Amino acid sequence: MNFKELQLNRPLLRAIAEKGYDMPTLVQEKTIPRILDKEDVMVSAQTGTGKTAAFALPILQLLFDKQDAPKKGKKTRALVLSPTRELALQIAQNFQAYSIYSNLRTTVVYGGTSIEPQKDFLRKGVDILIATPGRLLDLHKQDEVNLDFVETFVLDEADLMLDMGFIDDVKKIERLCPPSKQNLLFSATLPHKVKDLAASILNDPALVEVSPTSSVAKNVSQVLFYVPKPKKIELCLHLLRNTIKGNILIFRRTKFGVDKLEKTLLKNGYLVDSIHGDKTQADRQLAMTRFKQKEVNILIATDVAARGIDIKYLDSVVNFDLPNIPETYVHRIGRTGRAGDIGTSYSFCGADEKSYVLEIQKLINTHITVEEEHPYPLDPKAKPQVHKKKGSKYKKGRKSEASKKKKKRWY
Ligand code: AMP
Repeated sequence: MNFKELQLNRPLLRAIAEKGYDMPTLVQEKTIPRILDKEDVMVSAQTGTGKTAAFALPILQLLFDKQDAPKKGKKTRALVLSPTRELALQIAQNFQAYSIYSNLRTTVVYGGTSIEPQKDFLRKGVDILIATPGRLLDLHKQDEVNLDFVETFVLDEADLMLDMGFIDDVKKIERLCPPSKQNLLFSATLPHKVKDLAASILNDPALVEVSPTSSVAKNVSQVLFYVPKPKKIELCLHLLRNTIKGNILIFRRTKFGVDKLEKTLLKNGYLVDSIHGDKTQADRQLAMTRFKQKEVNILIATDVAARGIDIKYLDSVVNFDLPNIPETYVHRIGRTGRAGDIGTSYSFCGADEKSYVLEIQKLINTHITVEEEHPYPLDPKAKPQVHKKKGSKYKKGRKSEASKKKKKRWY
C-alpha cells in the first residue's frame, strides 16, 4: 500500500515525500482510514512504529478542508495530550513538518518553562495544540485556552500517562472538550488500567494492535553481561573502548546513577550528556539537541526522561541497570534497530538483578545471549548484596544535587 491509497491529499503527500517516507508503516495503514472515517480508535503501538504520523496525518487532512486564512482568529480543533515535554515537542515538530503546505498552525505547551510566550502563541490562535496535562490546565485556569471547539482529542502514551499519575488531569481535560469529539488513544501497552481509561473516554472504539511487545526486538541483537555491581563502570568503559561504537543511549535507574556515570565518562574523555527529571527543561532540551546533532555520542538517561523520544541513528542501547519492569526493557531496546537497521543492546546484570532477566526473557519469549568473555565476570554463586543502612534510619542518603538545592535552609 502507498500513501495515495490512504486517500491523503496532495499537500500532505508532498510533505510526506519530502520527509522521505516511501510507504506507510503498518500502524499507519491500519489507523489512518479509521481516523478519516471519524471513528474513535484505541491503538497499541510502540514509539518507532510511526504512530505519530498515524494520527497526525489524518487529523491534518480532516482539518485541512476547513482551514481558516492564515491571519484569521483560529480555534483549537485538535488537542494532543502527551505525558512528557520531550514527546510533546516531538509530536509538535511532526505536525509542523506534515502541515508545511497548509495554513494549519500547531503549537506546543508544556511545563518547566516560561508560560508567557506560550500565552502569546495561543492568543494568535492555533488549529492544533499539543500539551502536557499540568501546563494545559494552568493555561485553562487563566482563561488562555478554549477547548470548546476541539473536534479530535488524542491521548498519547496513555500507559505512561497513568504511570506518571496524570489520570485525573487527563479526565478533567477531556471533560473540558465537547462530548461529541472524536477520541484517539495511543499506548505502548494495553494493561487493564489503560483499557478502563479508554472505556471512560472512547465511544465504541476500533482496536488497532501493532507488534505485540514480545516481537518488538527483532532487529536488535541482544547481549547480556553478568557482572558484579561495583564493576559495572569498568565494564562500561571496557566496552566503550573496544566494542560499543556510534550513537549510544545508556539507561540508568536513578538520577543519582545518571549523574555519577556521566561524571566518570567525562573524566575518561567521552563526549557525554544526560537527561533526567531533576534537570531543567532547557538543560534537557540542550542535551537532546547536542546528541541529535552529534556533538556528543553518548546520552545517559532515566526511563521516564527518555521514554518516547525519537532519536534517529541510534546504534546501541546500554542497560547499565536492568529495569525491574520487563516491558521497560522492551521500550528501551526498541529505540535501536528501527526502520530495518540492526541495533545492539548491551545489558549489565548484577547478582541482585538476575530475577529481572528471567522476567524479561519470559516476556520477549527469547533467551538473551550471554557474553562470558569479558574481564569482570560475576561469580555464579555470588549472592545479592544487602546494604545495611548506616546512621539514622530517618537520614536519607544519595540525594541528587538538584534536590539538595530545593531544600530550604535555616541560615
Ligand atoms: P514514531 O513512532 O511516531 O515515533 O516514529 C518513529 C520514526 O519513524 C520517526 O522518525 C518518523 O519520522 C519515522 N516515520 C514515520 N512514518 C514513517 C514512514 N511511513 N516511513 C518511514 N519513516 C517513518
